[in-house]
Amino acid sequence: MVNCPECETDLDIDEEEVDEGEIVSCPECGSDFEIITINPIELKEVEDEAIEEDDDEEEAEDGDYS
Ligand SMILES: [Zn+2]
Repeated sequence: MVNCPECETDLDIDEEEVDEGEIVSCPECGSDFEIITINPIELKEVEDEAIEEDDDEEEAEDGDYS
């Protein structure tokens, strides 16, 4: 179990599903952390500038595909 260094929220990260260098975001406080090591999981806070976010994901919740 990994907790957010900022707000202690359980980030629910499975060390088998992440890689070193991956960026995870805390859903609670919005902070981004880079995974430095995965065994055990260690997080480092990431400065905003270095992050590229693709927020282009479609969020179609209409459910109308007919
Ligand atoms: Zn947090």
